Amino acid sequence: MSTSAQIGVTGLAVMGRNLARNFARNGYTVAVHNRTASRTKALVEEFGGEGDFIKAETAEEFVAALERPRRLVIMVKAGEPTDAVIQEFAPLLEPGDMIIDGGNAHFADTRRRERALREQGIHFVGMGVSGGEEGALHGPSIMPGGPTASYDSLGPMLEKISAKAKDGAPCVTHVGPDGAGHFVKMVHNGIEYADMQLIGEAYQLLRDVAGYSPAEIAEIFRIWNQGRLDSYLIEITAEVLSHVDASTGKPFVDVVVDQAEQKGTGRWTVQIALDLGVPVSGIAEAVFARSLSGHAGLREASRELAGPQAVPLGKEEAAAFADRVEQALYASKIVSYTQGFHEIAAGSEEYGWDIDLGAVSSIWRGGCIIRAAFLDRIRAAYDARADLPSLLSDETFAREIADAQDDWREVVIAAVRQGVPTPGFAAALAYYDGLRAERLPAALTQGQRDFFGAHTYRRVDREGAFHTLWGGDR
Ligand code: NAP
Repeated sequence: MSTSAQIGVTGLAVMGRNLARNFARNGYTVAVHNRTASRTKALVEEFGGEGDFIKAETAEEFVAALERPRRLVIMVKAGEPTDAVIQEFAPLLEPGDMIIDGGNAHFADTRRRERALREQGIHFVGMGVSGGEEGALHGPSIMPGGPTASYDSLGPMLEKISAKAKDGAPCVTHVGPDGAGHFVKMVHNGIEYADMQLIGEAYQLLRDVAGYSPAEIAEIFRIWNQGRLDSYLIEITAEVLSHVDASTGKPFVDVVVDQAEQKGTGRWTVQIALDLGVPVSGIAEAVFARSLSGHAGLREASRELAGPQAVPLGKEEAAAFADRVEQALYASKIVSYTQGFHEIAAGSEEYGWDIDLGAVSSIWRGGCIIRAAFLDRIRAAYDARADLPSLLSDETFAREIADAQDDWREVVIAAVRQGVPTPGFAAALAYYDGLRAERLPAALTQGQRDFFGAHTYRRVDREGAFHTLWGGDR
């Protein structure tokens, strides 16, 4: 057993414990610590055989166990607990040491913490980790920010424990300075919300409009998973849909309360997009759809409102409709990623992070919740042109959307006619049409603003700001 550890993990709930085990399984000596010492003891008792752990009961023991420069990973509840842990450990550290926050921190907190610790000479690395507890153990997608110098020594360790894409590339890169890693993790989660909402809408259409059972829909998703929609989320959707509740014999999906919960990263993605002025309508609709689902009282009170009831199609029509839904899902997915990458580009510009969008799509190809074959194509798009203004400007994606759009429109029309809510599909389509419109009603909006507030407007034929002296007694 070694007397000094190359890395330490404090916070040994599911994520921290599995990340510590992952480091140990990869040959690193790992110092482990938790506020409540029983968790530390349990980890070493249960998994001590997997590798080299040094058990620390106090903060002092923990810091003393780490080789210099120290690398200390925090995996505690995001927010105040993270600040409390930093305050506990920072006074024990020396210049050149590293604190790595692997929790789901808000990037603004990461920027604040990085600034404060920099004054003390401590490198603070805000590190997004995706893949849940399984990912943490077997290889997550890792999005570290912080000083470039920290990545020189930390990077190779992270590359070892990270997931590997199909081509063997590690799913980790130095995303950018200070909060860049947590920002990208936030947008990753926002895209995850959108992906899940779109899949949910596809399911509901296949059920209510096409008339398929959950087991039949699971089969359809399995087939889709062999094509361009090949992804972890589609794969698990098929699993969830084919699962039967043991106590009732009913499809599992029918015995679950239809109110989705959220922890906040999707909401942050939308809040920050609003601040940056980036239209992430697909992600926003996904967050709102979860919120609407949770308003049980409002939904109950609204059940009698007038509207059509979906009438399932016949067998042959259903199969054709399912193909259309696949097209709509794929096109809407392209739009979600377009919006998410736009937000990352805007954040990068605002905070001077110089984020490589191709590298981001590359590290999402394995380990994380949104991993998908599709990300290879996004990477190819950025490889072909690093300054791509939008994913929709990529020829391949533009062509695919062009091919999908008739079906996409038909699906949205069918949903509207049959009264099936598809905010994700519809918002994605509106975004697409908004971008391609020759003229938008924004010209009228400008006229109204000038009328009631003398906000002025620009003209299509002359430079400058104009104001019209509107008639009437105002
Ligand atoms: P968690 O439930 O978010 O947090 C529990 C851990 O935080 C325990 O070790 C707990 O210590 C510690 N803690 C709470 N308050 C503390 C305080 N004031 N001082 C010191 N320690 C404190 O655990 P988790 O689910 O493993 O997640 C850890 C972090 O990873 C979170 O930031 C989470 O958002 C992020 N994350 C989670 C997932 C996921 O799938 N779960 C995925 C990616 C990222 P005690 O044992 O003493 O209570």
